[in-house]
Amino acid sequence: MLTSVIGFPRIGAFRELKFALEKYFKGEMEEKELEAIAKDLRSQHFSYQKEAGIDFISSNDFSYYDCLLDTAVMCGIVPARYRELSLSDKATYFAMARGYQKEGRDVKALAMKKWFNTNYHYIVPELEDDTKISLSSEKVFDEYQEAKDLGVGTKPTVIGAYTLLSLCRYTGTKKREDYLENLSGVYRRIIAGLRERGAEWIQFEEPALVRNLDETDKRFFTSLYEKILADKKDVKILLQTYFGDVRDIYDELISMPFDGIGLDFIEGKKTLELIKKNGFPKEKTLFAGLVNGKNIWKNDYTKTLNVLDHLKTQGINTVLSTSCSLLHVPFTLDGEDKLLPEYKKHFAFALEKLVELKELADLVEDENRENADAYRKNLQLFREGRDCEDAEVKERISKIKESDYVRLPERKVRQQIQKDYLKLPKYPTTTIGSFPQTADVKKNRSSYRKGEISLDSYKEFNREKIKRAIEWQEGVGLDVLVHGEYERNDMVEYFGESLSGYLFTEKAWVQSYGTRCVKPPIIWGDVSRKKPITVEWSVYAQSLTKLPVKGMLTGPVTILNWSFPREDISIKESMTQIALAIRDEVLDLEANGIKIIQIDEAALREKLPLRKSDWNSEYLDFVIPAFRLVHSGVKKETQIHTHMCYSEFTDIIPAIDNMDADVITFEASRSDLLILDALKKYNFETETGPGVYDIHSPRIPSTQEILGALKKMLEKVPAEKLWVNPDCGLKTRGEEETRHSLVNMVEAARLLRKEA
Ligand code: GLN
Ligand code: ZN
Repeated sequence: MLTSVIGFPRIGAFRELKFALEKYFKGEMEEKELEAIAKDLRSQHFSYQKEAGIDFISSNDFSYYDCLLDTAVMCGIVPARYRELSLSDKATYFAMARGYQKEGRDVKALAMKKWFNTNYHYIVPELEDDTKISLSSEKVFDEYQEAKDLGVGTKPTVIGAYTLLSLCRYTGTKKREDYLENLSGVYRRIIAGLRERGAEWIQFEEPALVRNLDETDKRFFTSLYEKILADKKDVKILLQTYFGDVRDIYDELISMPFDGIGLDFIEGKKTLELIKKNGFPKEKTLFAGLVNGKNIWKNDYTKTLNVLDHLKTQGINTVLSTSCSLLHVPFTLDGEDKLLPEYKKHFAFALEKLVELKELADLVEDENRENADAYRKNLQLFREGRDCEDAEVKERISKIKESDYVRLPERKVRQQIQKDYLKLPKYPTTTIGSFPQTADVKKNRSSYRKGEISLDSYKEFNREKIKRAIEWQEGVGLDVLVHGEYERNDMVEYFGESLSGYLFTEKAWVQSYGTRCVKPPIIWGDVSRKKPITVEWSVYAQSLTKLPVKGMLTGPVTILNWSFPREDISIKESMTQIALAIRDEVLDLEANGIKIIQIDEAALREKLPLRKSDWNSEYLDFVIPAFRLVHSGVKKETQIHTHMCYSEFTDIIPAIDNMDADVITFEASRSDLLILDALKKYNFETETGPGVYDIHSPRIPSTQEILGALKKMLEKVPAEKLWVNPDCGLKTRGEEETRHSLVNMVEAARLLRKEA
C-alpha cells in the first residue's frame, strides 16, 4: 500500500524559520539569507519524508507565514491598500500578514482567524469588488520544481477554490458566485502549469466541505469544480478533505471527475459509514486519513489495520494517509530527554508518524503480520496499557449527582444577596486579572526555574509585586481588585503543572500563527489537584486590603482545549476530571475568605464542532455542565465571574447564560458592541462587563471615550447589571499606559454614577 502526507510542519525542528523571520523583520537578516534558510528547511523536510518511504509527499506546503495567504496571493487577492504601498512582492505579503508602519504610512494587518477547529490561525483574505483575480505567483511551480531538482517527485498542494472563497471576507457587494469564472481560470492554469512541469498528482485541500452544506453550497461546489477540472487531461487530481466527514456532499464527490478523494477517518465520525453505505468507485483512489495529524499518541495498529483490511476486501484502491497536515503536531520526540522512556514510547510526533505510515502500509500487505516486529511491538504497547488511572478520580466521577451541576439558590436570588453582601457601587470597576509582565517579573520566574534563586526569594519578589499592585489599584480607585498573576507564565501550563496527570515537553512546539508557536502540555492520565494552586497568592493579596480581591482560575474547557487530550477516554470525561480539580480550588479559595472568584474560559467558543448541527449534542451539552460543576458548590454570597476573550458568542448566548456565572467580562471593544444587541434580545441574565477599551494596543483611551462606550452599553444592558473593565488581561501592556487607562476608566464610571 502507498502512503501519503497531506502537509509537513514548516517551522523547523528547532523553529529555525521563526528565528530567521524574526531577524528579517527586525532588519537583521537579508532577504537572500532568509530565502536560503527556507530552501534548506524545505529540502530537509522532503528528505525526511523520502527517507521514511512516503510515496505522496506534498510540495508547496511550505509558507513564510500562512498557506491561505499564499493561496490568496497566488490568485491576486491583494486589497488595494496593500497594493498602493508599491512594495516588493515579499514586502506586500508581510504587510498583509503583519501590517505596515513606515515612512508615515500606517496600514493594519489583515484579520486573523482560527483555522477550523485547530489552534492554527490563518490570515483572512479580503475580496474587494474590483479585485482582479489572476494567477499572480509562481510559488507552487517553483517549489514543485525545487523538489524535483532534488530528486523528489511531489504532489503539489494548494488550498482549494471552495475553501478559499468560504474563508474570504467580502468587503463590497459581490458574492462568491461573482468570482467563480476568474478563480476557476486560475486553478485551471495551475493544473496546466504543473502538468507541463511533469506533476502526476495535484492535491486540492478542501476542509470547508466538512461543515454543514446546503443545496446552494453543493451546487456552487460542483459548478466550481466542473470548470476547474474542465481540461485537466491526464494529470490526477486529489480532492483532500480533513477535520471531519463529508456527509453532506459524499454522493456528489464520488461521481465527480476527481482521481483521488482524501477522507478523514479520525475526526470524520461518519467516514467509514459513508463508504460502507454508498460504496467507493473502483476507478478512484481513496486516501484514507488514519494516522492522526492532530494528536500525539501512537497509532493503535490493530484498529487501523481493521479498517484498512475492510477497505481492501471491498476492493477499494487505498492509499494510507495522515488525517490532516502534520503542521498541527510537534516535529519530533528526539531530544525530549526529560520525558521518561515509559512515557515517550506512547507518543508519535511528525517524524514518528512517518514511520507509522510506512509500517502500517507494509503490514496491510503482510500475510504474516502477526509475526512482524512492528506489529507485535505495537500490540504489546496497547495491551500492556499505561499507568494513567487513578481509582480515586474514577470513584469521584461515579458519584457525581445531577444536583452537583446546579448552584442554589437560583441566580436572580443570588444576585440580590451578593449586592447586599459585597456592597459594591453601581457600575463596579475591575480588571481581568493579569498586570504588566515587566522584565523583572519574567526574570524572577525564570531565575527560579533555573534554580538560580530560592523558593523564598522567588515568593518574596512576587509578594512585593502583589503589595504594590494592591496599593496601586486602591490608588486608582478600582472597586474589585486582583493580585496581578505575576506567578503565571501561561494560563494553562501554570495550572497543568499543579495537576497530577499532566506531562510537559521541552521542544514540542506547534505553529500557532506566523512566527508564534505554542507548546501544549499533554494530558497523560486521570487528572486531580495535588495541592492548592493559587490560594496562597490570593489570600496574601486579600490580607492587604478591605476591598474584595478576585481569585483567578482557568476553567476546565480552556485547560483541556489548549492541551493534547487523551484518546483512551472521552473528552467529556477528561473535562469532568479537570472540572473537579478546579472545583477543589474554588472551594479552597472560598474557605480562605475569597469572596469573588473568576474562572476564565478564554477558549470556550473555540472548539465548537465545525458542523453547526453538532453544536449541542457534541459539545455544549457537556461543556456547559463542566463549567457549572466547577462552581456549583459555593455559598450564595460568593460571586462567580467568568471571562471570555472573543465576543464571538452571539450565536451561543443562551448557552453562555446557562453557565450560571454571576458576572461575565468579555471583549467587546473591537466588535462594535454588536454582541450587546444579542444580549438584549435573549434577555441575558448574567451581569456583564463588555470591555470598555482595547488592551491589544498601547493607546490610552480618554475618559470621555470610555464614558461614551458605557452610555452605548447602557442602551442594551440594564444599569444594575453593568460592570466596567478593560477587555482582557493587561499582561502584555506597560505599567504607565495601564495606569493612565485605568484612571480614565474609573473616572468614567464615577461620572456615569453621578449622572444617574
Ligand atoms: N485572567 C487572565 C488574564 O488576565 C485572562 C487571560 C485571557 O483571557 N486570555 O491574563
Ligand atoms: Zn481575555
